[in-house]
Amino acid sequence: MDFIKSVIPPPFLPPTAYFFIFSDNHILIHQISDTNMAIPCMENPWDKSLGLKNLCYFGTYNTIPCYCGNIDKDKIPPAHNFINIRTLYTMAEDVFRHMAGYARQIHDWNANFKFCSKCGTQTIRKATEFARVCPACDLHHYPRISPAIITAIIKENKILLARGVNFPNKKMFSVLAGFVEPGETLEECVQREVFEEVGIQVKNITYFKSQSWPFPDSLMIGFTAQYDHGQISMDTTEVLDADWFDADHLPMVPGKQVLAGELINWFVRSQE
Ligand SMILES: [Zn+2]
Repeated sequence: MDFIKSVIPPPFLPPTAYFFIFSDNHILIHQISDTNMAIPCMENPWDKSLGLKNLCYFGTYNTIPCYCGNIDKDKIPPAHNFINIRTLYTMAEDVFRHMAGYARQIHDWNANFKFCSKCGTQTIRKATEFARVCPACDLHHYPRISPAIITAIIKENKILLARGVNFPNKKMFSVLAGFVEPGETLEECVQREVFEEVGIQVKNITYFKSQSWPFPDSLMIGFTAQYDHGQISMDTTEVLDADWFDADHLPMVPGKQVLAGELINWFVRSQE
C-alpha cells in the first residue's frame, strides 16, 4: 500500500493534491468515463473560488498529499459528482477504500468537534495529533471509534443468518452484529447481542479478525461461535427474519470485501 498516514501537513501548499470531499453520506468522485471514476486529484487547488473548505491533511498517496473536507455545493467541478460512500466502499480498490474510510472518520472528527462538548468553547486543532483541544477547560476531543462485534454462529453444518431492520437492502441476510456497551467485554457483548436479537446461547467464542467500518465510526470485531442451546426467538425491533442456512442454500449475503462476507465465506469454505 502506498498510502502513508500523517498528521503534520507539508510546509508549503502542494501544487497537486487528492481531495476526499464529503457531504453527509456521500463522497465526491471524478467521473472519468461511464465506467471509470476516481478520487479527485486537483492541480492548483488552493484558489478560494474552487470552494474547498474545512480541509484537513491526513497523509500522502504515492507522495501526493491527501486532504479531507467539504465543498460549496454550487462549485462542484465539471465531471465531478457525489456518490454514496457505501457504493465506493463496494467498488473501489482496497487502498482507496481504506483511504476513503480513514478520511471520512478524520473529516467527521474535524467537523463535529468545533466546540467543546463540556463547556461549549470553540476548540483549537492540535498541530501534532488528531485532537481538538478546548482552550477554556483543556478537554481533548479525539476521533471517535465505536467498537462493535460481528459473529458467525455455527450449528452443525449450518450458519445463522438474519435480515436486520436497518439493512439498506431488504433482501440481504447477514451475520449478527451489535455495539459494545460500557463495562462489557467483547465476549460478553457477543453473548448479549445474540441472545437479545435471536434468543439463543452460544459457546466457544473465538476471535476471527477486525475491520474499520466508517459508517460512521465503527471498528467491527469479528468472531465465530458455536450454538449452545435455545430456540430462535427474534427481537422484531432489530431483526426481520433469522434462520439456519447450509452452505449450498445461502440467501443473498454481503460480498467478501466486508467482514460479514468474509465470515460467511469462511463458513462456506469450512464445509468443502
Ligand atoms: Zn471546554
